[in-house]
Amino acid sequence: PARTRFAPSPTGYLHLGSLRTALYNYLLAKNTGGQFLLRLEDTDQTRLVPDAEQNIYDTLEWCGIIPDESPIRGGPYEPYSQSSRKEIYAQYAQELVNKGHAYYCDCSKDRLLELRESAAQLKPPTTVSYDRKCLHHPTEPKPKPSIGSVIRFKSPDLYEPFTDLVHGKLDIQPQYNVNDRRYDDFVIMKSDGLPTYHFANVVDDHLMKITHVIRGEEWLPSTPKHIAMYRAFGWQEPKFVHIPLLTSLEDKKLSKRLGDIGILTMKDKGILPEAVINFVALFGWSAVRDTPGISSTEVMQLSEIINKFSLDNLTRGNAKVNDSKLYFFNRHHMNNLVKDDSRLDELVCEFYPKFQQHTTSSIDKAQVKDIVREVGPSVDCLDEIFTKHSYLYESIDYTSIDTKKLPSQARDILECFQTYESIDEVLKRLPDVSKKHVFQSLRYALAGGTSGLTIPILLHIIGKKEYQARIKESLK
Ligand code: GLU
Repeated sequence: PARTRFAPSPTGYLHLGSLRTALYNYLLAKNTGGQFLLRLEDTDQTRLVPDAEQNIYDTLEWCGIIPDESPIRGGPYEPYSQSSRKEIYAQYAQELVNKGHAYYCDCSKDRLLELRESAAQLKPPTTVSYDRKCLHHPTEPKPKPSIGSVIRFKSPDLYEPFTDLVHGKLDIQPQYNVNDRRYDDFVIMKSDGLPTYHFANVVDDHLMKITHVIRGEEWLPSTPKHIAMYRAFGWQEPKFVHIPLLTSLEDKKLSKRLGDIGILTMKDKGILPEAVINFVALFGWSAVRDTPGISSTEVMQLSEIINKFSLDNLTRGNAKVNDSKLYFFNRHHMNNLVKDDSRLDELVCEFYPKFQQHTTSSIDKAQVKDIVREVGPSVDCLDEIFTKHSYLYESIDYTSIDTKKLPSQARDILECFQTYESIDEVLKRLPDVSKKHVFQSLRYALAGGTSGLTIPILLHIIGKKEYQARIKESLK
């Protein structure tokens, strides 16, 4: 069984990329009968966004990705927020200092800035900038740390190659020239007494018994540093799985449209969590097809994705985010959902207030339920009902509709409908008109010409009284 974790920093709302990381960790844990943890990496106090933490909880819950251990649920290795684990990091940092793998540094900001600037001038230029001024020889007495000093990790001259389960064996070294006397001795404890990301991440993954770290490719360059710390402690490192970056269809960094919007914005638009999960699951993973007993379709429920998930089927190239695929999944999942009465009721309750905002006339939940059932599966998201199908709950402004394509007998047909309500009856009375003419005329009167729904369904949704009123109004 795998123990995995999602370790977001609450610096913004959860978007597609981070949801994918959370989902893959969850899938591996659930597929192997293990546990999935949520750990908040909130030690960079300057970057915290006030409601980001709540947004993380709400988004995961909406998506059905429920952590077994988390800051709210607690668990055997609590606390699960790094900001509450200060003493733990201090203790482990001291252990590294005692073992000679880390040291206090009290170089001034100005000195460090100078070092950084001169490192950038070196050939080749480097970001590896510290010169080990504060490193003391093991035989010398250790100086007492002064207030405000940081602790640096004494990094090895060469980082160890490591194996990533997606990328295979990797040897990643920072760019620098050893003769320049610059060392990659990164800070592990900051002057405010809080750990840096690298250090807290390693200590916690070890203490929380994480077996697999699944995270975005942007963390690959940090991995050798992490492994060096595992070595320094004498700990076994977890397995690393770095998943490909999400890009737009044009292979550019995601920025527009769905790519960088918060997941809960999708909820507001009337996109189903089933669709979001299905969409996100396929960014870097493909389900095995046609295994006996497993359907070959890409449309899957979370439980099905859990069953099929395996690290062996992760893909390596960038994952392209295609918005229309999300809408494709949404239509399919909506089509399933509307057949499940209790789930439909839930969705209607969630979306009802939005309908009320969009209409001046009164609308009840039963009507909204009918509308969602009938048009939900044909729209990209429920929001589209307000732009494309407002005639279902709002009166029609016939003066703004182009009547050029209406059959010449439209007026006769609609007048006839005022007396006789059945299509057959109208056809009998008006021998010169075709069924098509009747439908076109009715569609004009009842739906302002919008197609999509059959006449009986239209009638059912708007109700008899409104039906009669619209026929009358359309004849004015
Ligand atoms: N806190 C890091 C983030 O925000 C976690 C990276 C990791 O999973 O190690 O992405």
